[in-house]
Amino acid sequence: MNNLNLPPAKHFINGEWVDAASGQTFLTYDPATEQPLAEAAHGGVADVEQAVSAARRALSGAWGQMLPKERGRFLYAVSQEILAQREELALLETLDSGKPLTLARREVEGTARYFEYYAGAADKIHGEQIPLGRERLDFTLREPMGVTAHIVPWNKPLNILARSLAPALAAGNTAVVKPSEQTPLTALKLAQIFARLDCPPGVLNVVNGFGEEAGAALAGHTAIDHLTFTGSVPTGREVMKAAAEHIKPVLLELGGKSPLIIFADADLETAVAEAMRGITINCGQMCSAGSRLLVEASIRQPFVALLLAQLRRLRIGPGVEDVEMGPLVSELQFERVSNHIEIAQSEGAEIIYGGERPPHLPRGYFILPTLFDRVLPDMHIAQQEVFGPVLALTTFNDEEEALNIANNIPYGLIAGVFTQNISRALRMASRLQAGQVFINQYYTEDEEMPFGGYKQSGFGRSKGLVALHHYTQIKNIAVKL
Ligand code: NAD
Repeated sequence: MNNLNLPPAKHFINGEWVDAASGQTFLTYDPATEQPLAEAAHGGVADVEQAVSAARRALSGAWGQMLPKERGRFLYAVSQEILAQREELALLETLDSGKPLTLARREVEGTARYFEYYAGAADKIHGEQIPLGRERLDFTLREPMGVTAHIVPWNKPLNILARSLAPALAAGNTAVVKPSEQTPLTALKLAQIFARLDCPPGVLNVVNGFGEEAGAALAGHTAIDHLTFTGSVPTGREVMKAAAEHIKPVLLELGGKSPLIIFADADLETAVAEAMRGITINCGQMCSAGSRLLVEASIRQPFVALLLAQLRRLRIGPGVEDVEMGPLVSELQFERVSNHIEIAQSEGAEIIYGGERPPHLPRGYFILPTLFDRVLPDMHIAQQEVFGPVLALTTFNDEEEALNIANNIPYGLIAGVFTQNISRALRMASRLQAGQVFINQYYTEDEEMPFGGYKQSGFGRSKGLVALHHYTQIKNIAVKL
């Protein structure tokens, strides 16, 4: 990997590359080989302090004075530079996280698209005039929040960062980013792009480090003005508590346990293909993974037969070989997924495919896609997020039963409904407790669609124009004429 163009093992603060205040670094690993890939700066309280101060100063500097249309042009230039570096960014993401190259490329393109989309919005964020009669003029301003913090998970490191960073910057904020300690590299490459495009110092700051140190320092910092957290429910709870200490607003994008509901009249081949994609993409490490299959009892047998045939054909291997499914991200994640599988078996759920490492891959954190059959709705494997390629299949007999099973869970991120009956599809869509409902397809990445959770999957909405509301605050101005 000597020809890899790695970013420096430093933080990016105030437009400069700086060592961690402690002088320490940590290693990141390639999950396909279990070998070290690169070093990253080991940040803590002091580094976060520097980054937040730089972001605060940048608000009153050149960035604060830039016209919205100029901000838009800058963000568009970022999108174009990301596309120009697509191959390099995708390779780095593949090596750091394990995902297949084609998927990594798509995520990089999606990253560019976030910057392009919000570039176009930067000069269209405005208030409104409120009619209060001839003697008074009342209007609102939409002002930036100020310093925004972004705590990012490892499953789509660059793409998820862009999802919150691009709207935050489009609205005129500055940012401090804490990438996951599992995947620290591509956020630094993005910082290199910002530097190359002469972004004013302090607008984007990247501090690497572990959650309990750098992450906690950022979440509990009194001088941030908004926090976007994407990650697990338990961490989200901690982050929300820390932000509550200083009454800071949070946008929480948390976990999921999303159902695909397949009625007997559905196009079976489409439903099976979408079920496969929904659980094998990124090795099931997706908040939006379709990890619960609710199948009408009368079609269980043909559905399972088709699904098994596809599971057996899946090409698994290192992401650089551009297979269909790579490894899990880390040893810890491998242990977590294996543990969920053991608990499911101990509760009596029946494995009909997978449940173990692929025999041809003795090294790396590889696992076969796993299908549990005859799962009861209250079993562990039907209720808990696995964050791996593990499917739990439950049958139902009618619409009402399907809906009850789908909704009887603490999460509410996504749902898919497969049926030829449009009235039933829309009835289900209106009663499903999920932030996005897909009909006759499963999750798509479109950056324009509002995305976010019901219940413990979080609150607030990313993507689309609606995301911009999180990164502005409204001031009402009333004039007596
Ligand atoms: P995680 O909660 O372990 O970590 C997420 C981030 O939080 C990391 O950067 C980590 O360093 C940081 N962190 C950890 N402890 C912290 C603390 N005490 N204070 C502040 N920050 C802290 O999650 P993960 O394992 O990286 O990601 C997997 C989870 O993320 C899954 O539950 C998945 O569903 C969820 N996720 C949700 C979405 C969404 O959009 N809803 C997208 C991707 C992932």
